[in-house]
Amino acid sequence: MLENKVSLVTGASSGIGRAIALAYAGAGAKVVVSDVDARGGEETVALVLQAGGDATFVAADVSRPADCEALVQFSVERYGRLDIACNNAGIGGDQAATADYPLDGWQRVIGINLSGVFYCMKYEIAQMLRNGGGAIVNIASILGAVGFATAPAYTAAKHGVLGLTKTAAVEYGASGVRVNAVGPGFIHTPMIAGLEADAATAQQLVALHPIGRLGTPEEVAQLVLWLSSPAASFVTGSYHPVDGGYLAR
Ligand code: NAP
Repeated sequence: MLENKVSLVTGASSGIGRAIALAYAGAGAKVVVSDVDARGGEETVALVLQAGGDATFVAADVSRPADCEALVQFSVERYGRLDIACNNAGIGGDQAATADYPLDGWQRVIGINLSGVFYCMKYEIAQMLRNGGGAIVNIASILGAVGFATAPAYTAAKHGVLGLTKTAAVEYGASGVRVNAVGPGFIHTPMIAGLEADAATAQQLVALHPIGRLGTPEEVAQLVLWLSSPAASFVTGSYHPVDGGYLAR
């Protein structure tokens, strides 16, 4: 499905990003695994190699434009081009209502979850235009579509990711670069381990999903894989929930 394609995934040391890197590699793509966590990144690379794929780790903090530029440059130097990028790196941030939300926490979440996606897209698109097209998938959230009490920065950043996705799709559709966003519901990953540790909160989270459980990183990765592949050749500028029915209520 992705033979001879070169892909990159940010935040690929853990959770959803790791599952996406494995799905890309399993479909035949070479994968640049990127994250701030080098140990986890090398583990992801080892998993890809064990499964017979090709991957390389490169450290990059997506809140730093120079890191994002270097990440794309690395992909080209290592594998010759860039066809697919999944901008997945993100943090949950503080939990507080808007009037109580810490100013530094706001800057941090916006810096990683929104500006980080913009910085990556800026350099990825420039490279994709040079190599004749490509596909970008941005990992937003159900909170890219609806609000959530105590998560103003996260929710604003994820709504912003949808705006960036639509704008770039309009700008570059005719040049062969497709850009889509995915909106996971609550997914079993280290990001929500703290919430799940409390039995009552865990039950409340499950109750938000009509399907009766939380999702797995692999279930998100399957949608991302499809959007990144030629099978989705007429799909751009759109937002795709993978949320066990969360947004259907
Ligand atoms: P995760 O397991 O915590 O993985 C996120 C990865 O991103 C971690 O390895 C993290 O490193 C890394 N990271 C953090 N800041 C970074 C930065 N500035 N630059 C590069 N990498 C950075 O979380 P996840 O649940 O897989 O989340 C992946 C994406 O899915 C995020 O965008 C998240 O908002 C989105 N999402 C998650 C859920 C959910 O329920 N899990 C739901 C909807 C959307 P450290 O661990 O060292 O911080």
